[in-house]
Amino acid sequence: MDNRQEETLDPDDWAEARTVAHEIVEFAVGHLGGVRDRPVWQEMPPEVRAAFDRPLPEGPTPLTDVFREAAGTLLRYPMGNIHPRFWGWYMGAGNFTGALADFLAAIDGSNLGGGNTAAAAVDRQVVGWLKAMMGFPDSASGTLTSGGSMANMVALTVARNAMAGVDVRRDGVTSLPQPLRFYASDQAHSCHQKAIETLGLGSRALRLVATDGDFRMNLAALEAAIAEDRAAGWRPACVIATAGTTNTGALDDLRAIEAICRREGLWFHVDGCIGALIRIAPRNHALVDGIEAADSIALDPHKWLHAPFEAGCALVRDRDRHFNTFTLHGDYLEEKPRGLASGEFLADYGFELSRGFKALKIWMSLKEQGVEKFGRLIDQNIAQGAYLTRLIVAEPSLELMAPTAINIVCFRYRGAGGDEAQLKALNTEIMLRLQEAGTAVPSDTTVHGRHCLRVAINNHRTRTEDLELLVREVLRIGAELAA
Ligand SMILES: *Cc1c(COP(=O)(O)O)cnc(C)c1O
Repeated sequence: MDNRQEETLDPDDWAEARTVAHEIVEFAVGHLGGVRDRPVWQEMPPEVRAAFDRPLPEGPTPLTDVFREAAGTLLRYPMGNIHPRFWGWYMGAGNFTGALADFLAAIDGSNLGGGNTAAAAVDRQVVGWLKAMMGFPDSASGTLTSGGSMANMVALTVARNAMAGVDVRRDGVTSLPQPLRFYASDQAHSCHQKAIETLGLGSRALRLVATDGDFRMNLAALEAAIAEDRAAGWRPACVIATAGTTNTGALDDLRAIEAICRREGLWFHVDGCIGALIRIAPRNHALVDGIEAADSIALDPHKWLHAPFEAGCALVRDRDRHFNTFTLHGDYLEEKPRGLASGEFLADYGFELSRGFKALKIWMSLKEQGVEKFGRLIDQNIAQGAYLTRLIVAEPSLELMAPTAINIVCFRYRGAGGDEAQLKALNTEIMLRLQEAGTAVPSDTTVHGRHCLRVAINNHRTRTEDLELLVREVLRIGAELAA
């Protein structure tokens, strides 16, 4: 204890702080180590919810008590994506090293907007590693973002400025001589429409191209759309290919789309939030052949690298275009030849100035595991997708609803049959019961107009027996509901 007048947020007693920190580590190890034995998800009881209505704390509470409250209530009701039987929507399962790294990153405290720091060097190194994974040249640029939505937004902003034909930064979108048109399949992620709206182009600037029976972009339809738009006075600007769609995991034909982009003079962007990292998978990498030729790629380390949230990444082949889209320094942000403000500012490659040290969780887990292990885990999930598909196909009361391209399986319980509305109600109820029992978390979707359950196995903890359990439970609940 010292008796200075000034206050600080530092602990009064570092020895006591160490004890609490050890208690937190003990809890964390037990919590993660025991995840398989807990329900995937649980509804919060009313008394837990009531705790969140308590007012702003005016005075202090010992950290031990604050931590125990957190551990006893809110940490018991998570989303569940760290659980081996979480397959909802599309997320990574996190990893322990990444969690330790997030703690260390906060202790380091660096702001990654720029600066001559080791943290900034790690950020550049991780972006360099991601470029290497994608087969991008050293001369390309990149930036770590909060996630894939922001990574796509960064890339589409560069594409807009590159294809505008005017200085959009100075003159704005109202100066565009022709309206720009972007193309993506009807299976593309909703973040693209949000990005294009935010870029001031209007959602009409995104033209959705029909998909075939495999949910891949129909290339003849793409070419026809480009020709029709040119004739109607649009300026075709960019094709957004999806490497792994969110609905079904379908992979657009990257090589063919690249050829169309080169012939037509369009920007070739790949939304690889799901599938880009397949490029490091020894058995399946050919599925994303051609991604290395993209003008820009969005990928998501918080999906198949299992970085704890958040971590996305935008890569751009033409560093100057990327830099020129975002560089701007206030009077208070002058670069200097030496000292802390020397070297390139990372903030010159995106919208955000203050940036967290999210590179460290990727850096530490890549070093610890090696990239080959991550590649094998991707193959493992794809093999599990194929295995689950076989279980479904072999079961007469289940129906596969889309071809399984990678690790996303769309199916439904059909039982004795029924119309689409009845089957939707039945399958929704099956899903809700699985979630409420804490057995498993699938989500649902609608593919080409038909509702189904959706299992996205982006999870390094999932085992074959978990998938077998899922099928057994779907059949059991389905039969019970049908009776
Ligand atoms: C997840 C996903 C996104 C959005 O990424 P976030 O990290 O959730 O912001 C974009 N596109 C595809 C194909 C995705 O699967």
